Amino acid sequence: MIRRLIPLLALLLLAGLAPRLLPSFHVTLLNYIGLYSLVALGLVLLTGIGGMTSFGQAAFVGIGAYASAVLTTHYGLSPWLGLLAGLAITLVVATALGLLTLRLAGHYLPIGTLAWGLALFYLFGNLPGLGGFGGLQNLPNISLFGWQIRDSADFSLLIGVLLVISLWLLDNLLHSRQGRAIRTLKDSAGMAEAMGIDTARSRLQVFIIAALLAALSGWLYAHLQRVVNPTPFSVVMGIEYLFMIVLGGVASLWGALLGATLLTLIKQVLQDVLPQLFGHADNVEMIFFGVLVILVLQYARGGLLPVLSRLVPAAKPRPLPEHAAHALPRRTMPANGQPLMVAEGLLKQFGGLVANKDMGLTVHGAEITALIGPNGAGKSTLFNLLSGVLAPNAGQIVFLGQRIDGLSPRAIARLGVSRTFQHVRLLPDMSVLENVALGAHARGKAGLLRSMLHWERKEEAALLAEARRQIERVGLGDALHTPAGSLPLGQQRIVEIARALCSDPLLLLLDEPAAGLRYGEKQALAHLLEQLRGEGLGVLLVEHDMEFVMGLADQIVVMEFGQRLAGGTPVQIQQNPAVLAAYLGGVE
Ligand code: ADP
Ligand code: MG
Repeated sequence: MIRRLIPLLALLLLAGLAPRLLPSFHVTLLNYIGLYSLVALGLVLLTGIGGMTSFGQAAFVGIGAYASAVLTTHYGLSPWLGLLAGLAITLVVATALGLLTLRLAGHYLPIGTLAWGLALFYLFGNLPGLGGFGGLQNLPNISLFGWQIRDSADFSLLIGVLLVISLWLLDNLLHSRQGRAIRTLKDSAGMAEAMGIDTARSRLQVFIIAALLAALSGWLYAHLQRVVNPTPFSVVMGIEYLFMIVLGGVASLWGALLGATLLTLIKQVLQDVLPQLFGHADNVEMIFFGVLVILVLQYARGGLLPVLSRLVPAAKPRPLPEHAAHALPRRTMPANGQPLMVAEGLLKQFGGLVANKDMGLTVHGAEITALIGPNGAGKSTLFNLLSGVLAPNAGQIVFLGQRIDGLSPRAIARLGVSRTFQHVRLLPDMSVLENVALGAHARGKAGLLRSMLHWERKEEAALLAEARRQIERVGLGDALHTPAGSLPLGQQRIVEIARALCSDPLLLLLDEPAAGLRYGEKQALAHLLEQLRGEGLGVLLVEHDMEFVMGLADQIVVMEFGQRLAGGTPVQIQQNPAVLAAYLGGVE
């Protein structure tokens, strides 16, 4: 806590003291750094962490600036009303643009942001009442309880305070349930949906936060400059904001500040030096930035902050409360022996390839069902059908009496079905604890605002305590704070099991959980699965190690060529002539 507050207090002190210590020209530079930092902070969240590249942030800065410029110069209203209006318009525009563009995958999203970035820029230049490309002049001062915020020294304090508040809110957000969800957006949305996380909603929220920060920066900019025109809100500036986070560090809030500082200072120096070399020329510094960004991308992909932070000792992880005061809700287990999941007549085709055909199985609570069959038999496809990742072309799946085929993975996860993946899907840079806590996402309620204000302490403590409990239960208690990606692959699979358990499931779907485990680890896993069975959970697992399966499973289903070849107890399967011929015999 203290460690997080010290840099914020230092920043505040800088904002307060700078005007007393530095000439006003330097204070003005600091102010611009602060304004750019606000936009870059949003962009770190959106692009660096959320994985959504936007070239259009400058347009939101423009909305914040123009809204206040129009209301204060044309209608004589207070800049504070201008701020409210700017934020409100940004909220509406960002929601609309977000709903339209955020579902675009791959490079279509950046192209979409270029499109609206350009469109809004020309709108600023052409909309009647905005003064064309000449803009609007004579914006009034902001005043706060009689304090006239007039010169750069006054602004320095206002910008400093707003920047510190923004940093604090975003830092809280990133260390919360909502923040963990945001961190899945970049590469792991499919996994996140299987953990019950609404990734589309999370995307939109991040987009809106970034837009609001940009609009706030625009409002400050307008009243600091006291004139607005479209130029600073163009796509070129949108690209400069991206450069800032690339230089500073795309994935961290302080990277945004570092990037804004570097870009502003280097630009200032270059604008003094370059004209002497090139004669009079416009924006020659962009040539330099182009080269610099390419070098950074080549040699310090994460930006300069990670390089610098290697020089200081890493922060200790936040201590975990020993006991959570607040217990998470739990599901009631259905009565023993009741079928949990019944699948019938499933058909799944990938073009001409039939991956599952007339496939069916029943999984009971308090039982371990093993799904075996050679590679390519269709086991993972069946898992994807049962968990909603794929929709069957025909057939039905019933979970606790309810049809679930056609439901989204998120809806199925929220009913109590949790899974692991054959190809491990963890966030490698995030700690084991945070990865596992993702599994408990649907058991928390705290929304965005509560998370930003850190008013979800009790719930957050309970979620982390639950994650820790599951990690200790699977035997990885020593690895709580280890980045998940640095564990051996076998243990990463175990982390996935802990994550699945965190959702308090009724049914666990484990796709090759024992692959890559050593003998002792397999035994520990078998012991854990037996324990879960004892608690009433249903387990369906895919496994190739016959000794492991035969000793553990209550029921075995054998698949071949996408179809069910046989089903029964281990003894029945071992004596089944079709199985012996097709599969077991083939192996031996
Ligand atoms: P298993 O898990 O039993 O090894 P899979 O379910 O992964 O088998 O694969 C069954 C068959 O379906 C394989 O021939 C595989 O190549 C094919 N398959 C699986 N997923 C896809 C997909 N998304 N697109 C096309 N073919 C697929
Ligand atoms: Mg498979």
